[in-house]
Amino acid sequence: MMFNPVLLTTKTRQICEVGRFLFERGWCPATSGNYSCRLNKELIAITVSGHPKDELTQEDVIVMNMMGNILESTKKPSSETPLHILLYQMDDNIEAVLHTHSVNATVLSRLYAQQLKLKLENYEVLKAFHRITTHDTQEIVPIFLCLL
Ligand SMILES: [Zn+2]
Repeated sequence: MMFNPVLLTTKTRQICEVGRFLFERGWCPATSGNYSCRLNKELIAITVSGHPKDELTQEDVIVMNMMGNILESTKKPSSETPLHILLYQMDDNIEAVLHTHSVNATVLSRLYAQQLKLKLENYEVLKAFHRITTHDTQEIVPIFLCLL
């Protein structure tokens, strides 16, 4: 399937910008984290493996199809590409996946790995989630173990 090169340029710039934004906040230290966005029903643009996210350029974002095949690049995609593709396949409304590795999230996921979930309850910040209007609620955050 073909893709619009102007759309690819726009999406790639956005991925590079969000990479710098997330890196500056310490949410993807060293070369951690990976980002992608949907180009169309069959293609995504995704960051390459092992690159600092504050130094991303257009050459560090490659095009892949939903089968995990790379289009027009010799670079290696993120090792967590299957997670991105799975999410796009599960929900047509997903337009981007921003996978970070903040220290806080990493520590929490290790502490709660056995339970495979983290329960957030009675926190004011829960209202940041879509459709939640009160702190008097709970949300379950699933924890996925990536054994690559
Ligand atoms: Zn990861």
